Formats: sequence, structure tokens, C-alpha cells
Amino acid sequence: MSGHFALLKRLRDGSELSDFIREEIRKIDAGVRGEERVFERLKELRLVGAFRVFSDVCLVLDEWKVQIDCLVVTDRCCIVLESKNISGRLYFNEELDEFYKEENGTETPISNPYFQLMRHIRFMKEFLRKTHPQMKVTGAVIMTAKSCRIMQKPTHYSIYKLESMVERVTQIYNSSGVASFSGEELDVVGKLLEENRSPFEYPPLCEYYRINASEIRLGVECPGCGVLGMRRTGKTWTCTSCNKRDRNAHKKAVDDYFLLINNRITNRDFRKFCMVESIYAASRMLGNMDLQMHKAGGKTYYTKK
Ligand SMILES: [Zn+2]
Repeated sequence: MSGHFALLKRLRDGSELSDFIREEIRKIDAGVRGEERVFERLKELRLVGAFRVFSDVCLVLDEWKVQIDCLVVTDRCCIVLESKNISGRLYFNEELDEFYKEENGTETPISNPYFQLMRHIRFMKEFLRKTHPQMKVTGAVIMTAKSCRIMQKPTHYSIYKLESMVERVTQIYNSSGVASFSGEELDVVGKLLEENRSPFEYPPLCEYYRINASEIRLGVECPGCGVLGMRRTGKTWTCTSCNKRDRNAHKKAVDDYFLLINNRITNRDFRKFCMVESIYAASRMLGNMDLQMHKAGGKTYYTKK
């Protein structure tokens, strides 16, 4: 989420995107709280057989990346749980494949969690195909907001409220036939999940949200007062607003650059973004940072290590 805060800080004053990004931050935050509620509540889960709970599972299979909120791997089946922290009155229109919420008389369309759930079930089937082909994979969407009412429920897949989740997961387990896996085998699955873990990373946010780079304010941020546009004088940066000096203030700007604009930076990009004129000073600063240098066809650029 650090990228979202960097973006908010660097949007021009009065940018109409600011409210949108604030809302994105709120949603991400709500999502994380929802996942935590699911994980917390699953501590009450007791099944007759062995099971393991994994939360925030980021996996990669060849080029296919997923971020699954919660996995309950049992001796009978694997249950994918997707949490959605959305308040209001919720409607699932199956005929139109639409999902929307109604709050204070306003209808807001929301991306249908069904497709995400199906994608993640498909992924887990594929993931377990070689090592545990007999493992059944199923799942449900869990609505975690305290103030949500499901007004119109889909019939062809499971969507439950948090308060009934433990009972529902128990039912899914009980109706999944006989146990075919030992506790040791579940630990093998756990190890596989660990080995194929891939950190979830956003692409640079301007690309992700299709924001024109010209919307982004340039300059090095003062660690003292937060004003952008420190000046490089000799070997240090000086704030034009509060006169604070800092030798390494450009490092944060380069981090911002990677989070917002591009995951590679050239000397020219650096000079423009940090507002430095000297190629040599820029080259020294880039060279002294813990970055990976690449040379391709006479061009040099840097990436994070
Ligand atoms: Zn300052």
C-alpha cells in the first residue's frame, strides 16, 4: 500500500484522482481487515480429521499468479475462501452475471466475486494435479462486513456471511466423502505452498490505473516537512522550504519512481524525476544506491535488486 500513499502525495493539488485513490486505499484496507476476520474466526474450526489453514496465499504456476485470501486444506478436500468486505445491501443478478450493492439509495456495481472464486478453484486444482490428483477443490465467498445484507443470493455457488462460515465449512467438509490424506500429507501440501509462494506486487501504479505521468509531481521530498523539490547542493540535499539537509533524500524518490512510474530507471529519468541537472551527480547517486545496473545496446538502466 506504500505505493498508494506515494501516489496520493505526488498527485497535483486538486487532482480529481485523489478521491479515487483515497477510496482505493480504503478498499484495500477493508479487504485486509476482512481477511483477518476470516482467519480469526477459523480458529474456532474443529473437524473430525486433520486440516491446515493458510491465509493470504500468493502463488505462481508458470506465469499464472494468484492471491488467495484463505485456504483450508483438509484430509478430504481443499476449500478456497474468498473474503469480501462490502457493506450495504448486496444483490447478485445471475442472469446478467452482475453483482451490485445498494446503499443510501445508490446502486454501485462491484466485480463479481464468483469469477475470482472460480479462477482460484481452477488454480488450486491445477496446482495439486501432479502431487495430489485425488484432492477435491471447492470453495465459498465469505462476506465479512458487519453491516451487509445479502438481498439476492446466487444459487449456483456458495456465498456466506462470516457468522455462519465455520458451520458452512464444517458442512462442506462433512459432505466431502472419506478421508484420503494423512496429516503428514497435508504438511507436504503446506510445504508446496511455501515453495511456490510469490510476493504479490503491483505493477507501477500509473500503469495500473492508467494515469498519465504528467499528473505526477516531480522532485525529492524533504524528510522534515514533506515538501517536494529539495535542491542538490554539493553532496547533500537542502529543502527550499525548511532548510533541512539530507544526503540520502533521493533514495525515497527513486522508490517512488519504481512504485509509480516504471520498474527501471535511467540517468535521464532520475534527473527529471529528482530535478538534478548534472549527469555525473545523478550517475554517482544511482551508482551508490543498492540497485542492479543493466547495460543494453549502449543504454544503461537500473532496477531494484
Ligand atoms: Zn523541508
